[in-house]
Amino acid sequence: MPVLSLDQLQWRNRFAQLPDTFYTRLAPKPLRSPRLVHASGYVAQWLGLDPAAFATPAFVEALAGNRPIPGSDPLAAVYSGHQFGVWAGQLGDGRALLLGEVDGPGGRFELQLKGSGLTPYSRMGDGRAVLRSSIREHLASIAMHGLGIPTTHSLALIAAEDPVRRETLETAAIVTRVAPSFIRFGSFQHWAARGDQDSLRLLLEHVIEHHYPECREPTLEATVERLLREVVARTARLMAQWQAVGFMHGVMNTDNMSILGLTLDYGPYGFMDGFDANHICNHTDTAGRYAWNVQPAVAHWNLYRLAEALRPLLADEQPLRRALDTFEAVFLQAFQDLLAAKLGLGRWQATDQELIDGWWQLLHTQRADFTLAFRRLAWADQTPGPGEPGTDVHEAAGGNAGHWLDLFYDTQSAGEWLQRYRQRLTQDARPAEQRRAAMLAANPLYVLRNHMAETAIRASQAGDDREVRRLAEVLSRPFEARPDAAGDAALPPDWARTLAVSCSS
Ligand code: AMP
Ligand code: MG
Repeated sequence: MPVLSLDQLQWRNRFAQLPDTFYTRLAPKPLRSPRLVHASGYVAQWLGLDPAAFATPAFVEALAGNRPIPGSDPLAAVYSGHQFGVWAGQLGDGRALLLGEVDGPGGRFELQLKGSGLTPYSRMGDGRAVLRSSIREHLASIAMHGLGIPTTHSLALIAAEDPVRRETLETAAIVTRVAPSFIRFGSFQHWAARGDQDSLRLLLEHVIEHHYPECREPTLEATVERLLREVVARTARLMAQWQAVGFMHGVMNTDNMSILGLTLDYGPYGFMDGFDANHICNHTDTAGRYAWNVQPAVAHWNLYRLAEALRPLLADEQPLRRALDTFEAVFLQAFQDLLAAKLGLGRWQATDQELIDGWWQLLHTQRADFTLAFRRLAWADQTPGPGEPGTDVHEAAGGNAGHWLDLFYDTQSAGEWLQRYRQRLTQDARPAEQRRAAMLAANPLYVLRNHMAETAIRASQAGDDREVRRLAEVLSRPFEARPDAAGDAALPPDWARTLAVSCSS
């Protein structure tokens, strides 16, 4: 039976069983006049919490950090990492607190408050998160889960009145993040950099015991190799999924890389509008270190840093090298499978790579809208060629009205690619309607474009949270065309072009 109060959940904290050098225990700092902006029903259910609890002041007060939850054991964890390719030394939870762990019907999850005040790891920061970035994290967590992409989750988003200075004066907010673990590559790097092998082993043991029991082998050597192989595989598949929806993380530092292969730490992320392979979503990333087309290579680089951190545990580096070398094959296979599904190709053929290369080139050259270009391909068998009459797309009610060809200014080139593609489709044995249904389940209609988040942010900053709630609902089922989301399928408006998303959060 789901319970009505956070206090009734069965709390424990296995991370807190590690030595106290791994963290600092401390309580969240209170926030003024907290209000619940939105909470996620599905996350509550995983935890065994009745969504009716959302309406209670006790829920909001606890997740605002104003009321301790009996059984929780709040702590800030320490970690280190490479930021933008440079070793940054010690970092850690500078504004987050792990409350503890709940064993619910959906599995075992840690709960973390993000934006709960200063910790010993806050460095120059103020320990807070602003409403703007918290809305972005909350909605992205929902959107990614809706897309079927591994991610940390957000139980609740709470806004408060406390002022927080960023480029301008904003207000504070807290998201309650939920994931089986928030351990990062940088958690391992931390102990390796200090030459503390005992702590490194304890962390490894914790991760194997609680999160990768299937990786335990008779020897330490074999266990480490298997773990790294598994982290490499999960990370490679995650990259394939990011690339396939046009998601850009924006700050792929090693301290933002989850040991579980989850999308972690949403900051200046973005979903691609018009496709530019070199697109940089983070305004602060002037060199384009984390541009869309380099994300898989950066993930591999980050895995090398993780392997280096594990190196002191082994007599030689060969097991680590073997594990690292599996990245490319796993990524390429996963990416190929996703593209074959998105393009409705059925079984992969030798000439498909050429077709797909032509596809990316077409999108890139014409800056065609990433999401709609894939989505409308579902009707490619009916799409009129350049200059031909007829209609193709059949979900006008969901906001997707128009031709596939409308997405291109050079319809001649687009039409040529379309001919090749249609030719290829004749070799797929499935009936057209079946293929169409499969493609619509592989290509979202609604992604969290920056301007959509921005509209919701502006409304919430003015005290109206309805748009956040509406988007949460739409983005939780992004493959479903729906009349109440017609505007969400649209190309970005002109004002969106001046939106700059930076690290400031
Ligand atoms: P990020 O790149 O946002 O994941 O953050 C990098 C490091 O800075 C982490 O150790 C964060 O905890 C810390 N940090 C970011 N923003 C703040 C803040 N406002 N107050 C304290 N620490 C922060
Ligand atoms: Mg981070």
